[in-house]
Amino acid sequence: MEKKPYEFEFERIKALIKERGARRVGLQLPEGLRTVATDIAAEISKETGVEVILSGNSCYGACDVDEKLERIVDLLFHFGHTDTFSFRERKPLKVVFIELRSTVDIKPVVEKAVAELKGDCVGLVATVQHVHALNDAKVVLTQSGKKVVIGKSDNVKYDGQVLGCDFSSAIVPCDEILFIGSGSFHPAGLALYTGKRVIAADPFTMQISIFEPEDLRKKRYSMIARALDAKSFGIIIGMKSGQFNLSKALALKRKAAAKGLDAHLIAMEEVTEASLLGFKVDAFVNTACPRLPEDFAHFNKPVLSINEFEVVLGERSWEGVWQ
Ligand code: SF4
Repeated sequence: MEKKPYEFEFERIKALIKERGARRVGLQLPEGLRTVATDIAAEISKETGVEVILSGNSCYGACDVDEKLERIVDLLFHFGHTDTFSFRERKPLKVVFIELRSTVDIKPVVEKAVAELKGDCVGLVATVQHVHALNDAKVVLTQSGKKVVIGKSDNVKYDGQVLGCDFSSAIVPCDEILFIGSGSFHPAGLALYTGKRVIAADPFTMQISIFEPEDLRKKRYSMIARALDAKSFGIIIGMKSGQFNLSKALALKRKAAAKGLDAHLIAMEEVTEASLLGFKVDAFVNTACPRLPEDFAHFNKPVLSINEFEVVLGERSWEGVWQ
């Protein structure tokens, strides 16, 4: 049998289905794993006899549980994320998080990344898929003469783990950051928020990419500068339960009004350019998933984060926008 790149924890899934007496289960997988979704559904159904319903909605984070599907199943298996969310108010009893640990050896890509490291001290971070292998990476780096720091944070479940909206475990004394994982979402955010050079090493593709904070920050500064001329703002409220921040949105609206700005609250599930089109405001403020602000760089109107909007309101310094 072909070795899977992730640990799908089939034995745990089967045991939970039996233990809870589930008859119908839901599966929610990240978009990149849609191609294997039907195989996983078939395997679970064949082995346990349950009816399986696949979620066709987004699955960007643990903030993004398919709650409508959760209502009609006995158990919902949400793949690819951890359940550690300080901002999550409701602990879903029916949702089981399957972290999808990678089965790929990370040492070869770390050995390749060493050539790109300039400093003596490296902050080491990873997405949950690789976090269990950070000590292997540490061994490689130490043997190459580097000092390694793996940060801890109360906001995440594992040491060195980063989320797209939480880089607190990367706030460590170091010269640069080595990120183990895929895509640009996390490393670009890391560079933006820590102000440090980030070397991203993807164990699946063996690709090494470099993210320079100055380039990314310049783009955000120009977005804030554009919003300084705005007279009206749409304040976006994310309707996914893990992203819902009504009190913050209301507070921002009040502050905007106090500064003589026209502000409107807009609730939505997904923040896309299409969903913002047509609203007669000059700029938007996003209180939902912070996403990679790079995503918003291509939107027609400025879309600011909460901190960036506070700069526009004169409540935060330009230098303090990433704190
Ligand atoms: S970055 Fe966005 S999608 Fe990812 S966990 Fe945070 S709020 Fe959710």
